[in-house]
Amino acid sequence: MDTHLNVMSFWFVLIAPFVGSFLGLVAVRLPGGQPVVAGRSKCPSCHVTLRILDLIPVVGWLVLRGRCHACAARISRLYPAIELAALAVAAWAATQTSGVVLAASCFLGWALLVLAAIDLEHFLLPDILTLPLIPAGLAVTFVVNQGATTNHLIGAVVGFAVLIAVNAAYRQVRGHDGLGLGDAKLFAGAGAWVGWTGLPSVMLLGAASALLVALIGAIRGKGLAADQKIGFGAYLGLGLWIVWMHGPLI
Ligand SMILES: [Zn+2]
Repeated sequence: MDTHLNVMSFWFVLIAPFVGSFLGLVAVRLPGGQPVVAGRSKCPSCHVTLRILDLIPVVGWLVLRGRCHACAARISRLYPAIELAALAVAAWAATQTSGVVLAASCFLGWALLVLAAIDLEHFLLPDILTLPLIPAGLAVTFVVNQGATTNHLIGAVVGFAVLIAVNAAYRQVRGHDGLGLGDAKLFAGAGAWVGWTGLPSVMLLGAASALLVALIGAIRGKGLAADQKIGFGAYLGLGLWIVWMHGPLI
């Protein structure tokens, strides 16, 4: 890897926690319909404007010990968690890729992070975050591996169709939806990024990680109801990320 690519990796890793701070705001504000970019950050409890120091990723939260400096209201752990996760995404991508693929990988990983945060909390995958993944994945494919564009276009269509079909079958058996339309749009996005040949691996990794987390929850005494909501989009996103980084399982 030549030097300017190393410098680029360095910058992506450096800005990642700050991107993470923004992703945390999106994850908190978007589901409630609040404007995502609305002036400076305020404490949601006492509305005091946060200080510059408080806004330093992870460090700010640790210095404040997770509480507002004015009213001591708790600040969600989502913020430091998503800041660290955004850093992990950039570092992971920097070990595997460089140049334009690194930039695309960070874009994908950070988008999947905010989707995961929203889906785990609200069981919701907003269109404004899932749908752009489809043209973005196709555009990245066209730029870095033009010959695979058709495979990825088919992937987007097949990904959507398969989850719609699975959901229709589920509805027949159980009488209600098992997967949301958001999951189908996200899976279409997965097809656009890894092609139809990558989709089985995405699904397998997503289902396996969801099952693992559910089992850990059950062991820790939370029980496991048949109709428990799980935010499957978060796990599909993890599957997509692993296949995008390391290729399909087979
Ligand atoms: Zn406060």
